Formats: sequence, structure tokens, C-alpha cells
Amino acid sequence: MRSILSLKLPSLLLTIILTASSFAQKNETQKPRRSSSRPASAAVPSPREVIGFTPGDDRKLASWAQIVDYFKRLERASNRVKFQELGKTTLGRPFVLAIISSPANLANLERFKEIQRKLADPRTFNSNDAEAEKLIAEGKTIVMITCGIHSTEVGGNLVSMNIAHRLASDDSPETREILERCIVLLVPSLNPDGNDIVKNWYDKTLGTPAEGTNPPELYHHYTGHDNNRDWYAFTQVETQLTVDKVHNVWHPQIVHDIHQQGETGSRFFLPPYVEPWEPNVPPIIQAGVNFMGSTMAWELAGEGKAGVVINGVYDAWTPARAYQHYHGGIRILSETASARIASPTNVPFEKLTPQVNVDPKVRSWNFPLVWPGGEWKLANIVDYMQAGAFALMRNAARYRERWLRDFYLVGKDAVRERKPGEPFAFLIHMPTVSGAFDNSQNELLWRLAGLGLLIPILTRGKVELIDAESSFVAEGKQYPEHTIIILMAQPYGAFAKTLLERQHYPDLREYPGGPPRRPYDVTAHTLPLLMGVPVVRIDEPFVLPKPPTPRITGTEDFSRWETKVGTGLPSTGLYKSHAASMDEGWSRWVFDRYKSRVSYKSVTDTEISAGNLRAKYDCIIIPAQTWQQILNGLSKDRYPAAISGGLGQAGVDALKNFAEEGGTIITLNEASQFAIEQLGVPVRNVLEGVSAKDFYCPGSILKIKVDTSSPIARGAPMLESSKDESIAWVEGSLAFEPTSDDARVIARFADAKELLLSGWLLGGEKMAGKGAIVEVKRGKGRIIMFAFRPQYRGQSIATLPLLFNAIQTSAASR
Ligand SMILES: [Zn+2]
Repeated sequence: MRSILSLKLPSLLLTIILTASSFAQKNETQKPRRSSSRPASAAVPSPREVIGFTPGDDRKLASWAQIVDYFKRLERASNRVKFQELGKTTLGRPFVLAIISSPANLANLERFKEIQRKLADPRTFNSNDAEAEKLIAEGKTIVMITCGIHSTEVGGNLVSMNIAHRLASDDSPETREILERCIVLLVPSLNPDGNDIVKNWYDKTLGTPAEGTNPPELYHHYTGHDNNRDWYAFTQVETQLTVDKVHNVWHPQIVHDIHQQGETGSRFFLPPYVEPWEPNVPPIIQAGVNFMGSTMAWELAGEGKAGVVINGVYDAWTPARAYQHYHGGIRILSETASARIASPTNVPFEKLTPQVNVDPKVRSWNFPLVWPGGEWKLANIVDYMQAGAFALMRNAARYRERWLRDFYLVGKDAVRERKPGEPFAFLIHMPTVSGAFDNSQNELLWRLAGLGLLIPILTRGKVELIDAESSFVAEGKQYPEHTIIILMAQPYGAFAKTLLERQHYPDLREYPGGPPRRPYDVTAHTLPLLMGVPVVRIDEPFVLPKPPTPRITGTEDFSRWETKVGTGLPSTGLYKSHAASMDEGWSRWVFDRYKSRVSYKSVTDTEISAGNLRAKYDCIIIPAQTWQQILNGLSKDRYPAAISGGLGQAGVDALKNFAEEGGTIITLNEASQFAIEQLGVPVRNVLEGVSAKDFYCPGSILKIKVDTSSPIARGAPMLESSKDESIAWVEGSLAFEPTSDDARVIARFADAKELLLSGWLLGGEKMAGKGAIVEVKRGKGRIIMFAFRPQYRGQSIATLPLLFNAIQTSAASR
């Protein structure tokens, strides 16, 4: 230990000295000291001076290089701004952060980080309230503002420059108060790649029928719009950079996430969120969200901004969008009505359409000022966004002490002893691993692959894991050494709990006795089920094996456990529609991660329609997408001919021939309806046409029973204490009933009583016992239909073997 310290300390000191001296030098050479009477604005360039137009001008988007350039220029010109490049995006662009505060605060950032670290973990000072009050008195409100995760919501990236410019140049008392009492962490875009994907498409199509349309590709390379569903799985590099280098370094009390919604609803949404709230979110966080959102809406009403709704549309259930709710911070989502990318739109009053809890034509308690309809353009969007952000920062400054104290109280409650009825710990069994692996150990390999995802998720979320150094007894049962113990009494115990336990989503209806009310995202996130990792919940306190030192194991190299298959992989085509499908992106993500299991190439409509597929492929996969989109693609009226029109009849015929000649077609979730409608498989979807009132499953984990004699089931990890039961991620899914002997059921949905494992399910009896995976013979080939998503958002490791086996068995038919 001593030798490590003696090695590390000098290099750390050296870094500090170097950084300090280069900073001092820069100050001397590039930034002459201003006299205090000189306004800060004199030297600070406006966005227009750097990018050539004002953010919000019609039909003008900035490239990512221009936005980065603006922030670099701002840093050079202002002593209130520090610019950092945190790393590179998926496609290699700089991922950046601007830290904005008073010059005095910026000179003292390490101290403010230390205060945050301590308040976040009150064990560091034995939860001593007097000590906490000293830290609270000294600390600053840490406000993180994130823009542009959804790249067609173009106002966010643009307004980031306006927000930064005003903070850097304005000398009004209210801006000074913000700068003195807050440290603002501004992420100009959470998806820089998408900024340019959208700008390039928009500029290219200006003045054509495609002006204002979405680009014909995902605006995040792998995830598209789902990039904002990654805040616990941390699969993408942009999420990792934000969590590792902003959230976990600064522990912001307030996170403002700037988005846009559709054109025809309310003009601007702010919290309170509608029900339900995920129950592990601390009550103080929930109350803080309500307070902040309401205050912002109140300020906007004072500014005469019409169409602002609170307590509408958006719920607070999934941690996939809310890392901060489990890490001491509030999440303030704002959603501004969209235009047509950067082109104006016109929404007549009578075209305004109701959303959950609000009818934009009608004044109500949570919607005090109705917007009269009419033109709506980028300037309006940027204006509302900026007004919202400044209302938020004014609150953050004014209630600085309260925000810091609440932050401390959340941490203090998290580390206290657990009460009876609260879980004490979760245990994860670590399989014994020795020597090299071979394919006969497939199941163990997949369990390790699941652990290899789950453990780093917990440690990235700063959950402390104890690797038991000896065996121990809990609730009367003996557990072996190297069992992983996750105590609930720790700063981020709630994050671990929500990811490890099962979800019970409330039965919410549009009105009493009416249809189910759609959740904003999905309803389940139980990682042990998704990843095939058995966990045990322990309610009774037990004596920890000695020494009970928390050990973070996130640095272990789990990749060595990833499965190796090697040579002879089938030649696989992954269908990529120009009507971009997120499931296609996630498929690529999974295939790129498990490279040794699949060798694939993307195939487009043109290539499929040209036919002769069997010469090139053993297997073609059609990811989840509606059958109409697959068949008809992008609208021919708006998009250029080369990318519109979908597979069409030529594509359908080519696929049929491919199977007849010995190819394997694999369809996932909704795409299986394409096989039913267009490829003529002898299978019926029993859920087709069933109303949401009679069957509903909006993203839940269900139980399936697998025919383990099929090669498709080989090595798939089953649920604990079961030989043939696994899970299925069900979301817009199907349930199959074969109509001929050519269709073989490989997996069935379980009986209604035991079907739901986590989430929400209505009318389970409709799908109980029906096919979940069906294999259909077709000439010399076959079609394998999944009724569910076996590679759900890169998380459902438990069912990946079913997909990979389906692919691998296609080689045999060549
Ligand atoms: Zn959005």
C-alpha cells in the first residue's frame, strides 16, 4: 500500500503543479485582467459572431464543430467559463462540458467537488449534522443542464450557446446571484453525432419535399431515440462519459434535461410528473422535483408564456431516464413543442390535441394560460427553453442552502440502519470459474456474460459490493465465500434495489373501468431476470464475514468471460430499413459486442429486392418494426426515390425464394407479423386486433417455457430452480398459434397465473400457453419467429443464446 502511495502521490502532485502553471500562463497571455467596472459582455462573443447566425433563426442549424468552436471561444474570452473535452463519441466527435460560475468559484472547483463528495456520503463524517451544516454553508448548488440527446429536437443544442453567452456576459444582479451561488455544468449536447446527422440531412433536403423530415437513419449510431433509455444500463459511450465524468464527479443536486415534444400538444411541459413514481425514489427528491417544476412554470406565467403545462404527459417510473433520482439529484425534464426541425410550422387552435392530464384548448389548474394557436418556429422553441433554464437557475441560486441540505438528507437517509420490513442486503452468487472454456460450458458462459454486465452496471452507479472473504450465514442459510453482498444501507442502495428487485407497476386507467393508461416508457427493469443472474434478497440483518470492507469490483476484466465461438459462423444479413428502427440499432450493438458469435452485414431494401440472396447469406434477420413499415418504408411523397418505398413486393418475393433455397429468416417481435402477413407462414397471432382493454403489456418481463430438445435452446440459462423456464421481454409483442404441422413451437408463454415476472400485464390469459418462438419449415429453409425482443436494449442476456443459436443453426442448412 505504502509503495503505491509513494509512487502515485508525486505524479499526482506533478499533475496539479503542471495544470496550475499552464492555467496561470494562459491567464497572463490570453486573458488580460479586466477592471471590475468593465462589463463582462465587452469581450464575450455572441453566438452570431462565431457561427454566423442567431440560434433560433429559421432554417439554420449549427454543425457540431461550430458549437464546440463557440464554447472554446467563450472560454478564451470569459473568466466565467471553463471548457472540457470529456472524451470521444461513438463516431469519434468530441464530447464536451462547459463549467460556468463566478471566477472565484472556478478557482476553487476542487474544494466544491470535495464538499459534494462528503455531503453525498455522510458516512465520511459520521452523519454529524453540525459538520454537515458547515459544508452546506460553504457549498454551491450544482446545476447540470443537458441538451440535445434527441437530435431532431434541435432547439437544445442551439440554446446551449445562448444560455452560456448570457451567463458569461450578463452583469445583472440575478445573473451574478446565479454565478455566485451555483456551479453550472452545461453539456451542450448529449449526442454530438446526431447533431451532425440531423443537420446534414436537413441542409441537404432544404427546399425539397423532404424539408423538415426525420433523417433516414438513427440519429444515434446504435440506439436512436433510445439513447435516453440508457441511464442504468450504461451501454453507450455517451452515457458512460456523462455518468463517469459529470454525474459521479459532481453529484449535481439539480439536473435539467432539455427536450422537445410533438407539434400539436402543449407548448412547454415541466414537472410535477404524472403518476406513477418509481417507489425507490427518495421522498425528498420527489418533493424537490414538484417544487422546482412548479416554480419554473410560475415564473414563465409571469413572463406571459402561454401553453405551459405541469403534471401532464410524463411519468417518473423508469430509472432508464433518471440516473439522478437515485443519486441525490432531481431531474427536471422540459419538453417544448417542436416545429418541423428548423422550419416553421403552423398549428391552428382547432388542431391542438389532448395529452395525458391536459387538453391544450382548455384552461385548467395545471395549465393556466392557453396558447391561441398559429405559427410556431425555432425562435419560439429556443425562447421557451432559455426562459425555463434561467427560471431553474434562479431557483437553484435562491434556495442554495435548501438544495444542499436536502441533498445531505437524502444521503443521510440512504446510509442509516435499515428498519424491519426493509431489505437488508441482496446476495449474488458467483460461479466458480477455473481454466479455459469450451462450448460445452455454454450455460456457464452466458451466466458469466450476464454477471459481466450486471456487476459493472452496479459499480458504475457507485454501488459498493462486498466480496465475502469467507462463508457466512444469512436468514439461516449458509453462503459460500466470494458471494457478493450488496448492503442496502449505502449512499446508492436505492439504485441497486430498484435494479435488483421485481417491479409491480400500478394498474392505472385512463378513467375508472377504462383502458390502461400508457406508461411513458416501459414498466420493468429487473436486471437479474434480464441477465440470467440469480440474486437473493435478505431482510434480516446478519453478521458480515470479516473483514467487511466494501470493495468496488468494477475494474475487473469481465470481457475474458465473454463467449468465444470462433470459426464457421453463418453469413448473416441484418435488415436495415430507411424508416430507421431502434431495434435494428440495438441488434447491431449486441452483434458488435459479441463479435465472436455472429458475423453480420447490414442489408437494405435495394439489396434484398435485387434477389439472389441465398448466394450471399445463410441467415437474414428482420428486427422489430411494424410490417407496414417494412413493406412500404418511407413515404414516396416526401423522401427521395432511392430510399423510399420499403421492401415492396420484389423484396417479399426475394425473401420467400431465399427461404425456399435453404436460407433462414429470423423475425423479431413486431417483424414476426410481417412473416405472417407477407411470407405466408402457417401461424396466427392471437393478439392481433385484441383491444388494450383486454390485453396489455407495455414492456414487462414474462415467463416462457422452452423446449430444451431444440438446438435453439442449447446453453440458454434458465430461471433459477428450473430446467426449462426462461424469460421474454414483451413490448408490442405477439403470441403464436400454429395452423399447420410445418410450424414447431420452440418456446411457449407460461400459464396466466405465473406469467408476469416483473412489470405490468393485463389479460395474460390471452397469451398464456401460446407460442413465443416458432420455427417454420419453408422449402429447404425455415423461418424462425420470435414473439418478443430477445436482445432488448442490449440487456436481455438471458435470451441472447436463443437468438444466437437460431443464427448458428442456419449454417447447418447450407
Ligand atoms: Zn426528447
